Amino acid sequence: MPNLLNDNSWLDFEKTHLWHPYAPLEGALPPYPVKHAQGVRLTLEDGRELIDGMSSWWSVIHGYNHPVLNNAAKEQLDKMAHVMFGGLTHRPAAELAARLVELTPETLERVFLCDSGSVSVEVAIKMAIQYWYAKGQPDKQRMLTIRRGYHGDTCGAMAVCDPETGMHHLFTEVLSEHFFADAPMVVNDADWQDDDITSFRSLIEAHHEKIAAVILEPIVQGAGGMRFYAPEYLRQARALCDVHNVLLIADEIATGFGRTGTLFACEQADITPDIMCLGKAITGGYMTLAAVLTTEEISRTISSNAPNAFMHGPTFMANPLACAVANASIDLLVDSPWQEHIAAMSKAFAQHLLPCRNWDGVADVRIKGGIGVLELNQPVKMATITKRFVDKGVWIRPFGKLVYVMPPYVISNEDLNLLLTAMTEAVAEELNAGC
Ligand SMILES: *Cc1c(COP(=O)(O)O)cnc(C)c1O
Repeated sequence: MPNLLNDNSWLDFEKTHLWHPYAPLEGALPPYPVKHAQGVRLTLEDGRELIDGMSSWWSVIHGYNHPVLNNAAKEQLDKMAHVMFGGLTHRPAAELAARLVELTPETLERVFLCDSGSVSVEVAIKMAIQYWYAKGQPDKQRMLTIRRGYHGDTCGAMAVCDPETGMHHLFTEVLSEHFFADAPMVVNDADWQDDDITSFRSLIEAHHEKIAAVILEPIVQGAGGMRFYAPEYLRQARALCDVHNVLLIADEIATGFGRTGTLFACEQADITPDIMCLGKAITGGYMTLAAVLTTEEISRTISSNAPNAFMHGPTFMANPLACAVANASIDLLVDSPWQEHIAAMSKAFAQHLLPCRNWDGVADVRIKGGIGVLELNQPVKMATITKRFVDKGVWIRPFGKLVYVMPPYVISNEDLNLLLTAMTEAVAEELNAGC
């Protein structure tokens, strides 16, 4: 086939043929073409360099083009890129499972490896339902979750996303109906008020006979609004699950691997979920991969009752290339002073972002570990603010009223200052321009 796109016409072609996330195919803002990336810098086709504030959506924690991760991929590539997991197995998968069992809370020791975060949420939901089926309680099929959550874009995951931001009205016939508790409002334990969990408590008390599991993002609600909530909420939710025979699924896809200041956000409430989903940073942003961990009791119950198998098995389950990179990425993380990196980010966020609290047009400033958020009163104008960021040499991707950063852990203090200066300057210019 002749190369149709041997000059710059590939950009024109992609504009009319390629979907981008949550965007129209026609009339969208043109995306910036990236030629390569190194460390915390993205290099555009025209040679401009941007400091990355997004870690490509929580995932690139060690920076781009990392020699150790590159090497892990190359070594595995020379052995095998992939082999089916049905009836076969391989060392990279076992090594990854061992690492995950070691790092996560003690009772999580059985591992299901799948393709993406959304799929891991599907797997977790099916696991919870199959567990109760195996225990002779097939009526427990619904989920209880909290508003403003985000759990992925596949239909099962969408059904537990916030009903409004998740556009449930568009897909009513295919989305299962679940129970939604009010979103937590209290941000930390010092300000805890018991009525924050009243709605959750009423729902679980009234409907536990139908509820297989609670699913939530621990401590940080990410794509549903970058909201943080009190560990006490999580502790009480755990206790209510225990009282009412409901499993707890912790979706740590965004929070896992250190982003909030602890390796997993659940640690901040000192609780252990029955099922945990991991994804995003698991391969350092190299490959798509996710994991679902559960207890010995849940996996044994599912395995020893009809249909005597867990009913899920993706084609690319436990892809060896992804597992090999995940192993290298986890070792890099554990052997690095990541806590210091996260603390340095928190400190720089406080210095640069807290003063914006007093600005007209800024509704809130939120900082948690390696996450820094400016919430504005009005939705940003994507076209103008994105251009301001790029002109200032940074990559920040706002959504709605939220302008936020979660840089790679390896970012230097100097680059962090450049990033945050550009962020606050661009927001100030935007607000002054009458946003
Ligand atoms: C991103 C995300 C998902 C979905 O993961 P994908 O890999 O995009 O499918 C699920 N839950 C949370 C909390 C996420 O942040």
